[in-house]
Amino acid sequence: AKLQRTILVTGGNKGIGFEVIKKLIKQPSSINNDLILLGSRDLKRGEDALSQLGSPTNVHLLQLDTLSKESISFATNEIKQKYGGQLDVLINNAGIAPTDDSIEEARKTLATNYYGVKLLNDNLIPFLRDHGRVINVASGIGPIVLGYVSKDLQDKYTSTTLTSEQLDCLVEDFVSALESNNLEKSGYTTEFPYLAYGVSKMALIALTRIEAQQYCDARKIFVYSVCPGYCATDINKHGPGARSAELGADSILHVVNTSDHELKNGAFYRDGAELEPI
Ligand code: NDP
Repeated sequence: AKLQRTILVTGGNKGIGFEVIKKLIKQPSSINNDLILLGSRDLKRGEDALSQLGSPTNVHLLQLDTLSKESISFATNEIKQKYGGQLDVLINNAGIAPTDDSIEEARKTLATNYYGVKLLNDNLIPFLRDHGRVINVASGIGPIVLGYVSKDLQDKYTSTTLTSEQLDCLVEDFVSALESNNLEKSGYTTEFPYLAYGVSKMALIALTRIEAQQYCDARKIFVYSVCPGYCATDINKHGPGARSAELGADSILHVVNTSDHELKNGAFYRDGAELEPI
């Protein structure tokens, strides 16, 4: 039998993350072998999700709030102590959308969708096996918003030499521009409502490229970003015309299950096809 893989899905209690887990446990390789960690910031919601899945023995609940350093270090310890300190796949699915265009919502969105992913990756990548992979769930809105910002910002966000410190600065500059009502002057756009969401995902796609380079050189770890497509979930109040969360899960699982040499490390995918960063 194939070796057991350990797969962590953040925000696994509902929406697309829940569908990813539902599909993972039905994969032939999973039935006996894969261990799936269902990340949920709220234990009760996690337990409910687990029982909805029929409480399979190979799915374990892991309390994980990606906004909390404490929770991240608790989860890291659990992985060390209970799960042999080894992960094969980390799926950074947890995410939020701002509920309005306030600066507070923008900060919260960037904290969850960008900084939270980065912090979790920094903590957990040391526990990934060689040839392990990280999947950052981004969104096609990232490249769309990038298409509307200044040429200078486009060049910066897509630069192959961008460092993670420089990317943090770009994100901070966006927050400052929003705060001082200077979006246009700073090269951003006022074309989109909930701009912070698009910026958080565009930064996540850039971060993915940086992490891919950083960790592949050092440890043969592969990092990809994925768009699940527009899916009817709570994040968009089950928006009209959206496809099912199940199809969104397929988009993520395609990258989970395709071999490294058929994918481009650091690239952005939807439904198995590579998307341009802009
Ligand atoms: P949902 O709102 O249904 O699910 C979001 C999940 O993330 C929930 O489990 C939620 O937990 C969790 N979450 C939010 N914040 C945190 C946190 N700080 N720590 C841990 N978990 C957290 O949305 P989707 O399933 O649609 O979204 C999943 C991902 O897909 C997101 O990253 C989203 O941006 C992305 N995406 C979604 C699209 C869509 O059309 N639906 C399109 C493109 C991208 P809780 O239940 O506790 O709130």
